[in-house]
Amino acid sequence: MENLIIIGSGPAGYTAAFYAARANLKPLMITGGSEEGGQLMLTSEVENFPGFPEGILGQDLMKKLREQAKRFGTRLIDEKADKFNVKGKTFDVYVGKKKYQARAVIIATGASAMFLGLESEKKYLGHGVSTCAVCDAFFYKEKEVLVIGGGDSACEEALALSKFARNITIVHRRNKLKASKIMQDRVFKNKRIKIVWDSDLIEVLGDGTKVTGAKLRNNKTNKVIEKKCNGIFMAIGHKPNTGIFNGIIKLDEKGYVITDRNMATNVKGVWAAGDVQDSRYKQAVTAAGTGCQAALEAEKYLESNSP
Ligand code: NDP
Repeated sequence: MENLIIIGSGPAGYTAAFYAARANLKPLMITGGSEEGGQLMLTSEVENFPGFPEGILGQDLMKKLREQAKRFGTRLIDEKADKFNVKGKTFDVYVGKKKYQARAVIIATGASAMFLGLESEKKYLGHGVSTCAVCDAFFYKEKEVLVIGGGDSACEEALALSKFARNITIVHRRNKLKASKIMQDRVFKNKRIKIVWDSDLIEVLGDGTKVTGAKLRNNKTNKVIEKKCNGIFMAIGHKPNTGIFNGIIKLDEKGYVITDRNMATNVKGVWAAGDVQDSRYKQAVTAAGTGCQAALEAEKYLESNSP
């Protein structure tokens, strides 16, 4: 029986881990396997994490957080948790068929990029369809790309792409961007970025191995056009990774874990931290902060509920 299992390994998970480890709880962390480190693994420079005035690469930051968690004795399982159950006052977390049991759990599974759900989008994911301009922009030097969405992410992706691609077209379903004013201004000023308004991506076109274009439908006129492009970047938001908690832990209408101000969920002994419970701020530093809160609460709980 473990004291504490932490599920997920972004800034929230790792911060919870080193707080819990320094409290001698010997936490066990299930990192998420290929998703270890979370969304920061998909970004380049992080300039707003305290303590790094020169900025730091997302992957380097996550490596440091992982080292910090390990330094104080966190045990890491580099796999994905598949199932979660409440058993009286304890919890079962499954990785495949292997069951881990704990007296307390911190959920820090984060959020993932959303897709439109098109067959062709799935087919070309990783072959021209991407969710991370910062990771993949380099492959589109002097090429044509589309960015789908109208929020800050879409603007950020378009701006990142504009350092490499020749032409970037933002395709947005409305006639107004949702992004913050400053991001909109940067986009409007950038000569490489154009916007197609009131339009939906209805099909990704390709030659079987790579993207060659897109079918766009104007949702006011229903007119369909085909646009040639080499890459399509999806930036339509994120969804929380809460599938295994559905029906057990209370979630809001968008699927985010509902927590109180101390990061407690509706189930005693379970806390949630980071993007999995935060659809508002979604910052590395707020995730780390809530990871700390969850670990301190778990420590207090375990102390007063010792077997
Ligand atoms: P948002 O939810 O803010 O925006 C999603 C965009 O995608 C919206 O324009 C939305 O359209 C569109 N969209 C959603 N679903 C669909 C769909 N099915 N088909 C077509 N279009 C769709 O997500 P973001 O990822 O952009 O941002 C999330 C949060 O992170 C925000 O709070 C944002 O401010 C923040 N952020 C900040 C950054 C920065 O400041 N540098 C960078 C990135 C994110 P519609 O407008 O019609 O709703």
